[in-house]
Amino acid sequence: MTRVAIAGFLHETNTFAPTPTDYDAFGEVAAFPGFVRGEKILENPRFPVATGGFIAAARERGYTLFPIVWCFAEPSGHVTENAFERLTAEIVNAIATNGPFDAVHLDLHGAMVTRRFSDAEAEVLRRVRAVIGPDTPLVASLDLHGNIGTEMVKEASALVAYRTYPHIDMRETGVRACALLDRLLTTRQPFARAHRALSFLMPAHRQSTLTEPCRSIYSELEALERADPAIASLSFLPGFPLADIPMCAPTVLAYADNQDAADRAADRLTAFISAQEEAFVPHLLPADDAVALALASRSKRPVLLADVQDNAGAGGTADTMGVIEALLRANVPDAIVGIVNDPEAAAAAHRAGAGATLTLALGGKLVAGHAPLRASFVVEKLADGAFSLTGPMLGGFTANLGKVAQLRLNGVRIVVASRRVQCNDQAYFRHAGLEPSEHRIVVVKSTNHYRADFQPIADQIIEVAAPSVYDVNPANLPFLHLREGIRLHGKGPTFQRRP
Ligand SMILES: [Zn+2]
Repeated sequence: MTRVAIAGFLHETNTFAPTPTDYDAFGEVAAFPGFVRGEKILENPRFPVATGGFIAAARERGYTLFPIVWCFAEPSGHVTENAFERLTAEIVNAIATNGPFDAVHLDLHGAMVTRRFSDAEAEVLRRVRAVIGPDTPLVASLDLHGNIGTEMVKEASALVAYRTYPHIDMRETGVRACALLDRLLTTRQPFARAHRALSFLMPAHRQSTLTEPCRSIYSELEALERADPAIASLSFLPGFPLADIPMCAPTVLAYADNQDAADRAADRLTAFISAQEEAFVPHLLPADDAVALALASRSKRPVLLADVQDNAGAGGTADTMGVIEALLRANVPDAIVGIVNDPEAAAAAHRAGAGATLTLALGGKLVAGHAPLRASFVVEKLADGAFSLTGPMLGGFTANLGKVAQLRLNGVRIVVASRRVQCNDQAYFRHAGLEPSEHRIVVVKSTNHYRADFQPIADQIIEVAAPSVYDVNPANLPFLHLREGIRLHGKGPTFQRRP
């Protein structure tokens, strides 16, 4: 009987974001289930994350699973030491108390940072490794936004990352992790490893796998992996550039039966990616230019404006008003905007009731230097409670944004919610009574995940640079701790540490 302990602890830490991520943030998530513990982890067969895929694959192999905890917090500032220590201890103590195990699978992100640990997942792996010993297979699934340093590669037997952004292969990644774990258990030989860090950062909005160059990069990755049976796994992680830590960089990871095969595959993929550096230059339009371009469209299908810098999924506050103000300045006849995070405004709309006209200060409250939009809005529709997501990425999850209101100001309809969430599923608009395909301009607060569900209905997509808590162009961020000499985007300026 093969006994495998499984746990999930995921956070993408934007070290520039103002709000720390405390323990409760892992339990109050708008679009993920919050804390799931013990046998409950095994109860949802469609759990659309790496752990779900791992469970399905492990059952096919007849493994006995020991589920500990699975949790995720919306991307935000540093994870508090209290949250990190409590959750890491929960995982490590459960493994120590209930072992020995034949193997361990962890569902991690790869970009978690605390004030004490700039590479927090390396610390999780180190503590698990200390309990299970050097020879027990320890495999982790990762988000492709992980910033992977040498410590993680050293502590884990294998690391395997998503291959899609929008992330529609989270479950498949868990299946791949299980195959790697199986290979380790069968051969009883550790993998040879190769780890390469690229020489430039990749702005998040240039990382989509639905567009070039990442579409071709992942095709090349799969071709290289297929070409040599000695290769067990090849991963490419474009990384999370909003992290002021030395290991912040895109990386390539190769695991193989021999060192030559691992090095060869890693070097070939790294060279292929490096040759596309030109494509990782940030190109964004200011909000007024983007709105003018959208108004020039003659299509019956919506023009999508992606407010890429106010993405809750990268630690944004989702309450900036820049794009909305540009829509109002241009007096657009028909636009919808989602999802503005403003619990006070949502509650005020619920008190006023549907049909009321309400004067309020909307958004602009969470970022220093921003101001709310003060105006009279018509409360068009109210909603509350749980509803199902339907898009390719998170379909199957239940979301709950708390109190929700659709507010209208002239031709602009704004979905306001009590919880911060990235607009990556059309269900968020439908919950507030809006059908996105019926509107001329659709504004989504999202860097890239929106593409999975919204790209099919859009005539064109325009990426907008409105002021936010962070800048999607890494060259504009106040970095202090990056690796010396790394370029801040494709063909960008070089980072130099201050003396
Ligand atoms: Zn990600």
